Amino acid sequence: MSETCRDVVVVGAGPTGLALAIALRQYGLDVAVLEKEPHTKREVRASIMWQRALEVLRDLGCADKFVGGGLPLRQAEIYVRGHRVGGHEMSVSHTLFPEPLSIEQIATEELLTERLGELDTTVRWESEAVDVRLYADAAEVDVRGPNGRAETIACRWVVGCEGAHSLVRKALGVPFEGERRTGLQAVQINAEPDWKYAYKPDTSYFFFERRVCLIASPRPGGGYRFFAFVSDPDPALVAPPDAEEMRELIARAAHDAALRLTPTQPLWLNRARFHDRIAASLREGPAMLVGDSAHMWAPIGGRGLNTGLRGAHNLAWKLAAVHHGWARDALLDTYSTEQRAAATEIMRQMRHNVTELPPAPATLAAMRLALPALMAGERFSGRGRILLSDLARHHRKSALSADGAGRAALRAGDRMPDLPVTEGGRRRRLHDLLSYGRWTALLVHGRSTGDGADLEAAAAAVDRALARHALPAEVFHVRPGHRDTGRLPSGTLHLMRPDGHIGLRAPAADSRALQDYLHTWFTLK
Ligand SMILES: Cc1cc2nc3c(=O)[nH]c(=O)nc-3n(C[C@H](O)[C@H](O)[C@H](O)COP(=O)(O)OP(=O)(O)OC[C@H]3O[C@@H](n4cnc5c(N)ncnc54)[C@H](O)[C@@H]3O)c2cc1C
Repeated sequence: MSETCRDVVVVGAGPTGLALAIALRQYGLDVAVLEKEPHTKREVRASIMWQRALEVLRDLGCADKFVGGGLPLRQAEIYVRGHRVGGHEMSVSHTLFPEPLSIEQIATEELLTERLGELDTTVRWESEAVDVRLYADAAEVDVRGPNGRAETIACRWVVGCEGAHSLVRKALGVPFEGERRTGLQAVQINAEPDWKYAYKPDTSYFFFERRVCLIASPRPGGGYRFFAFVSDPDPALVAPPDAEEMRELIARAAHDAALRLTPTQPLWLNRARFHDRIAASLREGPAMLVGDSAHMWAPIGGRGLNTGLRGAHNLAWKLAAVHHGWARDALLDTYSTEQRAAATEIMRQMRHNVTELPPAPATLAAMRLALPALMAGERFSGRGRILLSDLARHHRKSALSADGAGRAALRAGDRMPDLPVTEGGRRRRLHDLLSYGRWTALLVHGRSTGDGADLEAAAAAVDRALARHALPAEVFHVRPGHRDTGRLPSGTLHLMRPDGHIGLRAPAADSRALQDYLHTWFTLK
């Protein structure tokens, strides 16, 4: 039986499928979300939400609930062979979310499901996509529903958010390029420790020992998530570790022989191995891939879920713009190129992230010597902080980034920081002017109040150009604080994408640059 045609079928109600469905519903699309399981995941996986992902959740209308349900992490204490080598400050500036959040993936999926419900959409549980047929501008999805009931859903778009074994990826015939990660496994337990380290709800511990990197992160429900990357001498061993094995490992890595460990309920003991893979393309015609169906890797740095959320955030506004006829189809291809570039960069960085890989003895000795000085310096710590936050990730090389305003600290493709500005005579946060529901043109005025006259003609041209095109947009005149004139030089236009990245940066008087940009990507009214 085939039901009426839906705008989008999202296959998989993991975190990325849920986030994508929320964003598409906010844009008014009719979305069916299929999930083969009867409820959200019960297994423990991701436990950290980095700052950029929290900004994404704000755009999805649910960041407050995450902040209310998680623990902000401000500090990481680093120990090498039992010696403290430094503390790593996690807070960053120019965002509404200075700290990352400790929150279990179980809670993440529940909160996203709740938010989707607020948008009058419920997940179709126990509904497994069993076949996908793709046409030039439509798709059909065969579904096995509760009690084996079969149906076919016709749709304009289908998005595979169904994880590693993606059916949509197979229907696309897209290779999942990469390999199994050898020599590395992760073991974990959620437990309450009785040990020599102080409990601070905002502090994680990192312990490095021979061939072990152990991370202890405080959990919102109490106790810690103990997550250890260890070498993998016996790849055939698949059974989870038992509590005593974990106690011995933690006691050795933390140099605390007297450690006692009480597993928290529900009992969670896990052994995981990983693949590093990226799909060769994330979009062909009516089908797209998001999250683990598009890219996956060992969870070094806690990137998988976070990157999937950013992918859903990148895709949804583009899909909505093409679906509503505001933008040309080529806009959708930029999701694939931008997200593949982001995933490739993350995979490269995490393969070389010595701060979470189980160290060989020689590396351990070097860490013990070098880390105290490195961590005491702002250069190393600051770079680490910003890298982990994901706030500096950019799309500078994307076809959608056009830069014609000379060199500056901020370039087309960059995420716009949440800078203080004056707008309409009031002090505002820049992010309060941006919106995920539209494009935003920022006309930047100089520091003195009298220099706005020459921007008036430019503003009229910007208004006219935007009014001719179908994209929803709003224009603001902003004056940056004196510290930020290097980032927002006066007399420039920044055309902001809905996801907070700079699309076009040009001299405000260069109306041709704006017209060309709009003509390339958007349709006329
Ligand atoms: C041990 C471990 C620790 C991790 N730690 C972190 C971390 O700290 N930080 C981080 O960011 N990431 C972490 N990750 C990665 C993170 O868990 C994944 O990146 C994330 O779950 C991907 O979300 P997703 O929605 O793309 O896919 P999934 O979470 O895999 O969800 C896919 C959903 O699709 C459903 N499905 C599958 N096939 C079908 C079908 N045919 N029809 C209908 N439904 C289907 C599945 O049941 C599932 O619910 C970790 C992963 C592991 C294994």
